[in-house]
Amino acid sequence: MKGQTEMKIIKIKKEAWGQGLEKLQSEFRLFGPVADKDGFEFKELAQGQLPVMDLGNTRLSAKSTVYPQTQVMFNYTLDESKEDHHIMKEVDLNGQPQAVIGLRPCDAASFQLVKRNFDNPEYPDPFWVRPYEQSTFVGLACDNPSPTCFCTSVGGGPYSENGLDVLLSREGEVILAKVITEKGEALAKAAGWDTDADENVFDERRDAAEKKITAKINSDQLKGKNANDLFSAPIWEDIAFACLNCGTCTYSCPTCWCFDIQDEVKGTEGKRMRNWDSCMYPLFTLEGSGHNPRPVKEMRVRQRFMHKLKYYPDKYDSDVQCVGCGRCIDLCPVNIDIRDVCETMNNYKPLKSES
Ligand code: SF4
Ligand code: SF4
Repeated sequence: MKGQTEMKIIKIKKEAWGQGLEKLQSEFRLFGPVADKDGFEFKELAQGQLPVMDLGNTRLSAKSTVYPQTQVMFNYTLDESKEDHHIMKEVDLNGQPQAVIGLRPCDAASFQLVKRNFDNPEYPDPFWVRPYEQSTFVGLACDNPSPTCFCTSVGGGPYSENGLDVLLSREGEVILAKVITEKGEALAKAAGWDTDADENVFDERRDAAEKKITAKINSDQLKGKNANDLFSAPIWEDIAFACLNCGTCTYSCPTCWCFDIQDEVKGTEGKRMRNWDSCMYPLFTLEGSGHNPRPVKEMRVRQRFMHKLKYYPDKYDSDVQCVGCGRCIDLCPVNIDIRDVCETMNNYKPLKSES
């Protein structure tokens, strides 16, 4: 649980914004949205580089700032003349603190959902937990949500503070910052941002932004449904029909966490790496014996939606494993829409003989 602090609103003028970020770079690695090919992505900011703050949303989510697409976990040598030969050496996880600037509230909320998987008492994963603990999340509220955003129907909102240390809202050239946690307070202090502003402005803006979100999903009936009934429901062939199993939906999703671990050896030096993977790929479940429990795409598509909308909420007694960012809807090349799939699952009624 993040240390909360007394809520405070700060007004940051244009020059103070740039100067503050530059000051922060002596203490933090800064990540933020920057232009990349035909879109925007979260990248580490170079000295003096400003994050782009007038974009819709980044193409990929901010998950890579804590959970990189490719990450070295261990190094080792196969050189038998070396003393430490065949010893797996864990990479140093005590890196510099980092601040993620300009992530949207949906992306911030996604870390809280993913945390249940990586930071649980049975199997805490230091490769995720350490970067997460070293991060300060400085969100950017959405005053102009996209037509495919549906965060308000999955427990979030364009001004949601869930998972954030600071929430920013742009007002022309000025940025207003709501300091939420002690981490956020420390960051604002280190940046030298301290001019107080009107506290009510965030409430007014939140109400206006929430009214703009009309897309939604309805999952109210899903909790009461039997997972086996949904698993064997005759709905998956139609849902999966057009799917190319390209994996775009999973790679762009802030709440997807599947990975693969591979060794890469050059000469005698080896690295054990963790790479994002996707439940949409046939190789993801291919076993060493040659058996594949999910050999056809229908099964893989079913797994993705069952995991997000049924298994996760059932396992954690929570809302769905989706923050409503809309990326998978915007980017799917064949227009498979999680809102429609959720509707189909939510409305599905098994025949009496099936239950
Ligand atoms: S993005 Fe669309 S086509 Fe690609 S794997 Fe996902 S659902 Fe299938
Ligand atoms: S499932 Fe789609 S809408 Fe939901 S969080 Fe993932 S990418 Fe965003």
